Amino acid sequence: MVDVVCLGILVADVIARPVDELPHGAVSLMDEVSLHGGGCALNTATGLARLGLSVAVVGKVGEDTFGDFVVELLDKRGLDTRGVLRDPAAPTSATLVLVDRAGERSFLHLPGANGALSAEELELDSVFAGRALHVAGALVMPALDGAPTAGLLAEGRRRGVRTSLDTVYDATGRWERLEPCLPHLDLLTVSLAEAQGVTGELEPARAAAWFRDRGVAEVALKLGPAGCYIAGAEFRGEVPAFPVRAIDGTGAGDAFAAGILYGSLAGWPLVDAARLANAAGALATTAVGAAEGLLDLDATLAFAGLGAAA
Ligand code: ADP
Repeated sequence: MVDVVCLGILVADVIARPVDELPHGAVSLMDEVSLHGGGCALNTATGLARLGLSVAVVGKVGEDTFGDFVVELLDKRGLDTRGVLRDPAAPTSATLVLVDRAGERSFLHLPGANGALSAEELELDSVFAGRALHVAGALVMPALDGAPTAGLLAEGRRRGVRTSLDTVYDATGRWERLEPCLPHLDLLTVSLAEAQGVTGELEPARAAAWFRDRGVAEVALKLGPAGCYIAGAEFRGEVPAFPVRAIDGTGAGDAFAAGILYGSLAGWPLVDAARLANAAGALATTAVGAAEGLLDLDATLAFAGLGAAA
C-alpha cells in the first residue's frame, strides 16, 4: 500500500522568464526558457515524495515526446507510474508559463490528454491503493469533473481511504461541478479566487464556512503571500506565510497541498499541518519550476522553525 495516490492532471510546463509583455508581431529577448514537470498531480506527488511519503500517480498523457518526458520524470522521482495511461489520440497537456519580473505568472494552457481522462478507464484498485486519495486538478478535467469525481471520492471513503481534493481555476466559470464532491471530502485545498468562484463569498472565513456547511471536514484556502485560512472542527483562522524572496510562484499551491496532506496523514492538528503547508508553498516559490525549491521533511521543518511538530 502506498501512502497517497494522486489522481489528476499531468502537464509539461514550458517556463519562460522574464516576460513582462508580449511583443505582438515583433521579437523580444528572455533570460531563460526551460522544460519542467507540471500539473497538480505531478507537482503534489513530487512534494509528498520529497517529504518522505510513498506516492502513486494516476492520470493520462499522450503518446508523444512530452508524454515520454512526463513519465520519465515521474519515474526518476520515485513515483509509481503504473496508473498513468497513454492516449493515442490526445496530446500530452502542456502549459506555456510566462513569468514576469515580479514573479507573477501567466498561463497558456493545452488541456490535451487530461481532458480525456474518464472514470470508466481507471483501474479502481490503483485509484484506491493508498491511505489517501488526492484529486489534483479538479475543475479542469471535463470528463471526470462533477459526478464522476464525487463517485470516486464516495467509493474511496467507503473503502476507508482518506479523501482530499485541490481545485484549479475554472476559466469557464462552471463552479457548480465541485458541489457534488463536497460531502465526500476529508480535506479541500482551494485558492481564494476559486473559493470565491464556487461559493460567491468574498471573505475567506465565509467561503470556508460555506464549504464546511456542505460537508467538507477540513478546508484550507490558499492566500498566496498572505499564507492561508483554515477551518476544521477545532480551529478556524488565518495562518501567516513565511517571508521568502519569491522568484516563481509556479506550483506553490501544489506544494502547499502536499504539506497539508502530509500533516493530515501524520495525525497533526490542522494548524500544524497548515504551517508545514505554508513552508512548502513558500519554498516552492524560491526557485524556477514547481519542485525545484522543495526540501525534505527535516529541512522544511527547520525552515519553518517547526522541529517540535515532527
Ligand atoms: P496557487 O499556486 O494555488 O495559486 P498560492 O499562490 O496561494 O496558491 O500559494 C500557495 C501557498 O504557498 C500559499 O498559501 C502560501 O502558503 C505559499 N506562498 C505562495 N506565495 C508565497 C510568497 N510569495 N511568499 C510566501 N509564501 C507564499
